Amino acid sequence: MRLLPAPAGSGIVFRRTDLDDFEIPATGRNVAKVSYATSLMRQGVLISTTEHLLSALIGMGIDNVIVELDNLELPILDGSALPYVETCQSVGIKTQRRRREYIRVLKPVEVREGNKFIGLYPGSGYRIEYAIDFPAPIGVQSTSVDLATETYGSEIAPARTFGYKADEQRLRDMGLIRGAGPANAIILGPRGPENGPLRFSDEYVRHKVLDLIGDLALAGRRIEGRVVAERAGHAMHTALVSRLLKDRSAWELAHIAVENAEAAGHEFPSASLHTPLLQGV
Ligand SMILES: [Zn+2]
Repeated sequence: MRLLPAPAGSGIVFRRTDLDDFEIPATGRNVAKVSYATSLMRQGVLISTTEHLLSALIGMGIDNVIVELDNLELPILDGSALPYVETCQSVGIKTQRRRREYIRVLKPVEVREGNKFIGLYPGSGYRIEYAIDFPAPIGVQSTSVDLATETYGSEIAPARTFGYKADEQRLRDMGLIRGAGPANAIILGPRGPENGPLRFSDEYVRHKVLDLIGDLALAGRRIEGRVVAERAGHAMHTALVSRLLKDRSAWELAHIAVENAEAAGHEFPSASLHTPLLQGV
């Protein structure tokens, strides 16, 4: 996998180098089947497990990038977004000479399915509130994060994906999680993680926030608003993106004043676009 700089306004675009550089833009229009991971498909060409890289890109404020892949699946790495963040930080991020266009939420957009819920509301910045309720040993956890405060790299990116040991054989029989193991996921036994200490006591809900940020990247532009999620997952996250994009009265394209970004203590004006410098992973 290789990340290449892209011109202002081009967005995040995946490119299959093994298929004549076929391109699949990271937008809601190209969302394919969604279960344990989020996949994109265009004209029958698939890119799977997009959520962790997309989360890292949004978390670092990268708007424009070409993601070259020589197969259909993104690397799982350690199960978190931290290796992607560190890789981009090591080469640097270039500020582009055009103002960033946001999706500004104007009215509530909600999706409910049984006891699962996700909603998007007007608000300044990009705030996420997430609550989960999983079987033991996870139980109930909740957290909130404001992406405007630039804590993504330390507070969200390191949180790893997780799975129950009891589900392992069933998932393998379904042809899923073929490459999964203790090096790239928290493996949960009845009493807790079986492969070493957690990175945060609430690492599970932090990882759900990581996934949510990656899935909402498929709106195609950075969101200005507040997200509330309860017991959600990839299917709910992407359903919210579809509903948002369909309801054109729920949002507008907006530029956020540079003065506000500077007042919030940003190192560079967040109202500008950013692209990474060349890097291979
Ligand atoms: Zn994940």
